[in-house]
Amino acid sequence: MGAQWEVYALRYAETPVRSARESFIEWRDIHDAPMPLDYFVWLLRNGEQTILVDTGFNEAAAQARKRKLIVNPVDLLERFGVPASAIRDVVLTHFHYDHAGNVDRFPNAVFHVQDREMSYATGRCMCERVLVAPFSVEDVTQLVRHVYAGRVQFHDGHDAIAEGVEIHRTGGHSDGLQIVTVETQRGKLVLASDASHFYANMEKENPFPIVVNVADMLAGWRLIRKLSDNDMGRVIPGHDPRVSATYPRAAGHEDVFVLHEPPRG
Ligand SMILES: [Zn+2]
Ligand SMILES: [Zn+2]
Repeated sequence: MGAQWEVYALRYAETPVRSARESFIEWRDIHDAPMPLDYFVWLLRNGEQTILVDTGFNEAAAQARKRKLIVNPVDLLERFGVPASAIRDVVLTHFHYDHAGNVDRFPNAVFHVQDREMSYATGRCMCERVLVAPFSVEDVTQLVRHVYAGRVQFHDGHDAIAEGVEIHRTGGHSDGLQIVTVETQRGKLVLASDASHFYANMEKENPFPIVVNVADMLAGWRLIRKLSDNDMGRVIPGHDPRVSATYPRAAGHEDVFVLHEPPRG
């Protein structure tokens, strides 16, 4: 079955100490409890094709931003049996440093990006201190080099990447943010990436504070609910440790979680 994909979340970094109040725009009613944050890339595989969704960050970025890199995602992929050179298609949900680093490490890949993310990340908004903060000029410059090398495939809104794998631009968190849907044995999964950092952002209808356009973010949640038939068990948020806590581990791989199997509990 060409359209039935295996989907894995690879956890490569974490921010163990942070407060729940850092995760919501409306923070006054939020209990000041610990709310750790995980970082993932996602691997889609169907026996014929392998697609990587996002590329994580590297040790230099981790040090610059005081993040805890567990392992470079490229090395984590290799340990999981997928050398970077075997990746032909990379979908970048958006260009923030924790999603679009390591883009020099995939020599044979084409990068699937939204027109609006490239425009946003290279345009006038990047003169604004607040908006430029989550981007790395090194990553964005490398992506521009890939454009000139003919290795970027641009998309404008909804498109198909392969049979059973589709993208939708939602914007909101970043102007060209795209989510990914993928057909699996348990139905269509929605990789929401930073359209919803945590399940709780959607569940409480309370956006994460890094947001370019709140209305677009809310419309994105409506789209995610529609695409998942309103089943949050088929929605995968971008940074929620509940993913690692509820999905089964791939045998022998402590930081790889099997999303095409149902979550526990
Ligand atoms: Zn982001
Ligand atoms: Zn992120």
